[in-house]
Amino acid sequence: MPPVAEDRSCRSLPLQAVSRLLDTLDKPLMVADRGGSLLLVNTRARRCLEFQGFKETDDPNLFSDLLKLDAAGIFRQVENGEHEVSVQMGAAEKKIAARIQWIPECDWLVVEMENRTDGHASADPGTQPTVQELLQEREITYRNLLAAYLKLQEVNRQKTVFLASAAHELKTPLAVIKGYYDLLLAGSLGRLTDKQRDILEESKDSCERLVRLVSMFLNYSALESGKLVLQLRENDLRDCLDELSKRWGEAFQRKGVRLEANIDPSIPTFRFDYQKVQQVAANLLDNALKHTPKGGMVSLRAAPHFWERRVATMMPIEERRRFRLPRPNSAEVSVKDSGVGIPAEHHQEIFEDFVRVDRNTSGMGLGLAIAKRLIQAHRGKIWVESDPQGGSRFTFLLPMDQG
Ligand code: ADP
Repeated sequence: MPPVAEDRSCRSLPLQAVSRLLDTLDKPLMVADRGGSLLLVNTRARRCLEFQGFKETDDPNLFSDLLKLDAAGIFRQVENGEHEVSVQMGAAEKKIAARIQWIPECDWLVVEMENRTDGHASADPGTQPTVQELLQEREITYRNLLAAYLKLQEVNRQKTVFLASAAHELKTPLAVIKGYYDLLLAGSLGRLTDKQRDILEESKDSCERLVRLVSMFLNYSALESGKLVLQLRENDLRDCLDELSKRWGEAFQRKGVRLEANIDPSIPTFRFDYQKVQQVAANLLDNALKHTPKGGMVSLRAAPHFWERRVATMMPIEERRRFRLPRPNSAEVSVKDSGVGIPAEHHQEIFEDFVRVDRNTSGMGLGLAIAKRLIQAHRGKIWVESDPQGGSRFTFLLPMDQG
């Protein structure tokens, strides 16, 4: 089955070149003369013929060996103007559909074999894409996906920048509004009736919530853009949390939820970012207050903790012996509430960006995601334990040995 047969009719044509050209085609293609002798067989068609059982050295006749049809019948059709004839070639289960076209100028028949048999994908290796082609296709898909991903990332970045600048613009007017509420409530602009005071206090609450949302979003965008830097200094965790519980006392009182703070005085000073840790605890208190009904209770606790971290270099036997730490190496902070609780299936996802479970309360689903990032930036960890009947307990560990 030579790729180029002896030039029998069109001597002027450079058959070798035509053969090369045909090899570049995706489709199996053969050219035969009026007698059915194969003049040209491209690479894919050769593979098809091998699949049909022909050997490299065979020189099958188009009509008697391949189509099993009478040549006269085919020529009658094509010469009558039907320039294209569809036929089946090969044995039953290896049948391949073929289209025959006649080129009157050189009296040649061009046979184009189809990629499918009986409506199913052909198992013919000649018509199947090669491994190299599949790899190339995969490479192109991968590149396209990567380009689309990078584009999406850029659009996402632009969106975050836009929202951050919008949030930033809100900061100043909100601070002004809050200042006026404070002035009014302090009675500096005249005496207030009880009704007026109640209304103003409620409005101030909403304003403060808005301030927290804006600052939450600004923190999120700073974290997203990698601009947030920890200010690690020798600080006192007791000051940090006491200050916070005092600040939140009023809001808890107003809702009728008891806030209990229990900060162990034996926690030594250690290096951490005062503002960021306060923000994490504030996010947890905010959630506890939001999800605990009137008459409930929230407790904020902090105590020294022995955090036995597994170290990669430690031998397994030593690990099993659980070597003793000479002194607590971390601080454990927890916020426990007697609220609605969180079903176990949401315990992981609530720490992801924009995930909200309870749709009846306000929020952006960012509080816990920010808390998690800030704690991880301190090389600590945060988790939740909850039971839908018994409220929730959020805990974070802060290592005391910050570099
Ligand atoms: P947000 O409070 O803005 O919705 P968070 O990231 O702080 O976002 O919380 C995510 C979700 O976790 C909340 O929507 C809520 O369903 C749930 N959640 C968080 N804290 C508590 C809690 N103390 N009690 C019950 N559900 C909580």
